[in-house]
Amino acid sequence: MNKDSIAQNTLRAAAEARFCHAPVTTPVDRATEELLHELQVHQIELEMQIEELRRAHFDLDESRDRYIDLYDFSPVGYLTITQAGLIAEINLTATKLLGIDRHELLYRRFSAFVIPEDGDRWYLFFVGIMKHNQHKNIELTLKHSDGTECPVQLNGLLVTSDNADSTVRITLTDITESRRAIAHLSEVEMNAALSLTNAEMGSWEWNIETGRIIFNEHWAKMRGYRLGEKERHFSDWENDIHPDDLQAYHAALTAHLENRSLFFQAEYRVRTQSGSWLWLLDRGAVIKRDTEGSPLRMAGIEMDISKRKCNEEKLRIAAIAFESQEAMFVTNANAVIMEVNQAFTRLTGYRAAEAIGQKPSMLSSGRHDQAFYQTMWGILKNKGFWQGDIWNRRKDGVFYAEWLNISTVCSPDGCISHYVASFTDITKEKESIAKIHQLAYYDPLTLLPNRRLFQEHLTKALIISDRSERYGALLFIDLDNFKALNDTLGHDMGDLLLTQTGARLLDCIRKGDTVARLGGDEFVIILEELSPTCTYAVNQAKDIGEKIILALNQNYQLDHSNYHSTPSIGITLFNSSKESINDLLKQADIAMYAAKAGGRNTLRFFDPEMQATIMAHASLEADLIQALKNNQFKLYFQLQATHDRRILGAEVLLRWEHPERGLVSPLEFIPLAEETRLILPIGLWVLETACAQLKSWEGIPHTRHLQLAVNVSAHQFHEAGFVEQVCAVLEKHAIQPDRLKLELTESLVLDNIEDTITKMHALKKIGVHFSMDDFGTGYSSLAYLTQLPLDQLKIDQSFVHNIGVQPTDAVIVQTIIGMANNLGMDVIAEGVETEEQRAFLERHGCPAIQGYLFSKPVPIEQFELLLKQS
Ligand code: C2E
Ligand code: CA
Ligand code: CA
Repeated sequence: MNKDSIAQNTLRAAAEARFCHAPVTTPVDRATEELLHELQVHQIELEMQIEELRRAHFDLDESRDRYIDLYDFSPVGYLTITQAGLIAEINLTATKLLGIDRHELLYRRFSAFVIPEDGDRWYLFFVGIMKHNQHKNIELTLKHSDGTECPVQLNGLLVTSDNADSTVRITLTDITESRRAIAHLSEVEMNAALSLTNAEMGSWEWNIETGRIIFNEHWAKMRGYRLGEKERHFSDWENDIHPDDLQAYHAALTAHLENRSLFFQAEYRVRTQSGSWLWLLDRGAVIKRDTEGSPLRMAGIEMDISKRKCNEEKLRIAAIAFESQEAMFVTNANAVIMEVNQAFTRLTGYRAAEAIGQKPSMLSSGRHDQAFYQTMWGILKNKGFWQGDIWNRRKDGVFYAEWLNISTVCSPDGCISHYVASFTDITKEKESIAKIHQLAYYDPLTLLPNRRLFQEHLTKALIISDRSERYGALLFIDLDNFKALNDTLGHDMGDLLLTQTGARLLDCIRKGDTVARLGGDEFVIILEELSPTCTYAVNQAKDIGEKIILALNQNYQLDHSNYHSTPSIGITLFNSSKESINDLLKQADIAMYAAKAGGRNTLRFFDPEMQATIMAHASLEADLIQALKNNQFKLYFQLQATHDRRILGAEVLLRWEHPERGLVSPLEFIPLAEETRLILPIGLWVLETACAQLKSWEGIPHTRHLQLAVNVSAHQFHEAGFVEQVCAVLEKHAIQPDRLKLELTESLVLDNIEDTITKMHALKKIGVHFSMDDFGTGYSSLAYLTQLPLDQLKIDQSFVHNIGVQPTDAVIVQTIIGMANNLGMDVIAEGVETEEQRAFLERHGCPAIQGYLFSKPVPIEQFELLLKQS
């Protein structure tokens, strides 16, 4: 046993004797005793303040780890005890007091670590807090794993929660040192105390009369004094105090010396020999006064509180950080919430007491599935960090979006000890993003996807179809006569119709398919996952197309009136991502136009042939404009004769000698010429050329009786001034008008029946003849036939072709012949190719025929040879 430990033992013995057994009655002893008591109380208060601070403020964000450091490495031990008395939470300092690893301590009974003598007191203390919610403190002795005992100060606080069991928060303070200090401060042992070097505390004694201060080794060490130095003058002491702290120091000292306070206590900074500043807690008391009560000697102890001061500073910063605008909460490793800040309460509506003890799932909105949370926890555990946006629900049930950051905090042994989460409300941002998205991708009127979103969907659909090898279909829907509705009933009604159309279209499709509005009255639909077999896919698309036609044919309620509308639908199929969106749209559009041309309120499929026609169309149009200028048109003549081959005349048929394509059929270019109105100059050229031919035949006996039939297109006929034009040509070539026969079709006649009747009569008057071309294919009705000044009916070649094939057609041929006879008209059959057909026609009284049997249409030179032969 060395000198120090002998002194220590003597000291302890003396102190025990003094506190436990024999009351010492000197006034100095009493003062010291009171001082010690005060000191003790004060220390507890201090520790409670630290605890208070800790509970109120956690450092997060940058200071998150610091908080955990503070928690774990605080000089104070922390514990959470369950109702059953089990340890649920424990910090590192507390584990050190017990000398056992944290994971071994969790869920063990705390009473197991209390010495048996203190067992009852612990029980009463715990129950007092649990049952009566008393905020209490107590001193107990704990058992350290190495067998030693450790006196501790316990503070207990009840933590209640609506949804979880209440717990008791315990603060543990190791009071070995303060007990030792109490002993040191015993006046009797003061000199011995001064020689103590083991204690982490400085002790001093001040002779007020001489100003001499003697101190122990630790006192000297703290200030960086030379080793072995034991005394100084009081003025040295004062000189080293930080100027900012000097006033408070003096005030405390004077108060005590003047007997206004029971003891002296001050916290202040002193300059060490190295020039740095050291925070000290200085406590002392006058230990000797003269008979008048003036102080003679004073003694005390000093403690380095730099670490505590630093912690307090950190806590202050952490507290500010924690109470930021961002909502925050801290959970333990089991994801049980331990702390929340005020912003958390503001944002979620849950008070701290309601949240603590709960799991974060209390905020769950139900909008994310199990997999979402699993992924989140997975990332968190692997990377230690997760961030993202998430939908949660406030206490009042309102949903909100938050931007959430979660970090894990690990204890020095590498295990996750806490999760720290911070989040901000981003509902508004989400809403404005949604609004921007809505504006960018949706049609504001029908709320259907717009062209841009449609393109995205189609791109995806193409990739999917490529992968699944299933067909998809694109439907292009255009409302018939929509412009008329807009013009007559106004745009508001138009908008109403479009909105209702959009809703009906949505009803016609399956989930996963897309309805979009491209603009105006144009809608498109993407059908996905159709059959892998083309013919089935076509049928599926057709079924849906027909369903749409039916749906859009239902009457619309526009304001107060009923309205009927019909659609035209073009459909194209796709099964490869190589197809371009624009090409598909073009195809569906072309098909839609085919549906319009086919009479509207119907659907058409696009097929490559249709596309080829369209392509040819475009280049043909350019060439057609040049054709007239470059004299590329020619007239061919096809003879019309009696059964005994007596030639009556010919039908002139237009030919286009294209420089590259060769002879182009009128079937190919007449419709195009009509569309571009080029038919007007072309038609005039035909008429002129035919009349010029008639004129040249006029002077020759065996040709002067010949009649030429000229085809007239509807555009040409209905053009204002057609009659005058014919008259002018007849006059110009000075021919007999009855040599000219105009072939009109039934559709031409019906197009504008009034105009037709007027014009026919005008021309008939001057002697021009008329033949009804392709008779039998249109809506022939006796009513209009009788009104028209027709000279001839021309039996359509389709009926002639079916003579001997289709009995009904043979009957039609007979009927037409009979009709012509009854109406006093001439009759001719075209397209006669066989002797059988000719014989049938002859048998049934059709006097004239035209067809390959006698001659194909031929150029004039060849036709004139035919004339000579007959
Ligand atoms: P269309 O007026 O019905 O002319 C009869 C068509 O039948 C001609 O075709 C003719 O070559 C063809 N044809 C004549 N006999 C036979 C036969 O025995 N068997 C078969 N299979 N076909 C026969 P083309 O010349 O190609 O004319 C087609 C259509 O073009 C004409 O039909 C007519 O509507 C129009 N077209 C021809 N020339 C003119 C014209 O100068 N002006 C106008 N507006 N249309 C014309
Ligand atoms: Ca004809
Ligand atoms: Ca014909």
